[in-house]
Amino acid sequence: MDILGDNYEIAAADHDPSDQTGLFADVDVEVDWHHSLALAVRSSDVLLSAVGLPLDTHSTGDRGKCQFPVFVSRSYIRRMTPGDANDPLLRQVLASDSELTSSEGFTADAVGDGSSRLTPGLLKKYEGRALLIATGTCAIHCRYCFRREYPYGREPRQMSEWEPALQEIETDRSIHEIILSGGDPLMLTDARLTELCKRLDSIHHVCRLRFHSRLPIVLPNRVTDRLIELFSQLRSKVIVVVHANHPREIERDCPPALQRLVRAGFPVLNQAVLLKGVNDDVDVLTDLCERLINLGVMPYYLHQLDRVNGTSHFEVPIEMGRQLVAGLRGRLPGYAVPQYVQEIAGAPSKMPL
Ligand SMILES: *Cc1c(COP(=O)(O)O)cnc(C)c1O
Ligand code: SF4
Repeated sequence: MDILGDNYEIAAADHDPSDQTGLFADVDVEVDWHHSLALAVRSSDVLLSAVGLPLDTHSTGDRGKCQFPVFVSRSYIRRMTPGDANDPLLRQVLASDSELTSSEGFTADAVGDGSSRLTPGLLKKYEGRALLIATGTCAIHCRYCFRREYPYGREPRQMSEWEPALQEIETDRSIHEIILSGGDPLMLTDARLTELCKRLDSIHHVCRLRFHSRLPIVLPNRVTDRLIELFSQLRSKVIVVVHANHPREIERDCPPALQRLVRAGFPVLNQAVLLKGVNDDVDVLTDLCERLINLGVMPYYLHQLDRVNGTSHFEVPIEMGRQLVAGLRGRLPGYAVPQYVQEIAGAPSKMPL
């Protein structure tokens, strides 16, 4: 987590991780987003205690073998229902024994990231746009993450290490849009984010900077005046794509953060992943899309799960996904229905299902 810089170290040092009292206290005790990260929960036991569930929930003792550690902000935990073992937010972040079963067709790199890597930190799969792995860190570890096995360790950390990627973008005049992804690009400190954005912004053929971030959902206090100011100062058109899967994620401190981005004039889109036991239900998806459009956030993609090791228990059959989306079409305005897509390694775009 060195990428978070000095503030993170200071905030972490102030906090005794064994002190979980006040977990559900108001967000006001969290000084800023760095502090919120320092206070994030890093173990299944602490998470389960916080929501009042027995420590063996969804595990017979094996979950300690899961290699992807538990990590979740308190803001997100506050939106869970205490005592509900099947809470749809809890399911997204609690390590379970199911992750340890390997399943046919599930691999480490299901989406062909490895073969589309042009330079360290830069992936190009599609015409006109390229994707930067701005950082490997996130404010939450989603158990179904398609990059849960991505080798982040070899990607750039310092500005100087970005040079090959930046030079590649400078040379390739067909690239009009840069997607800052990760991990989560808004995990970068303001200083680093500013430096990276300004550099990208200075490349004339780059017209758009798109930020793929789950932070406005899981760590809403990341949406600061300074962040909005940084976005506003860029020449390039800024587009923000957030990631929420369930309507209960759009509660408490989250809607105001989304609203700030929308009111500042940036197009804000949402992508969701179709997840068994979380949002494989037409009422749930309808509610999610309605809450989003009521805030001015447009549903963009509903992703079929990428078949990454340890995630098969989240998979919903494509046929069922199609029925769910048909159900949405019957209930929502056309603009509120996300495109149901799958990522296929080597394909020229995300493939509509
Ligand atoms: C998903 C993805 C994009 C973005 O695709 P859109 O359909 O434009 O949202 C771009 N580059 C890579 C490598 C991707 O995986
Ligand atoms: S926020 Fe995105 S990149 Fe990070 S763990 Fe969740 S799905 Fe993966």
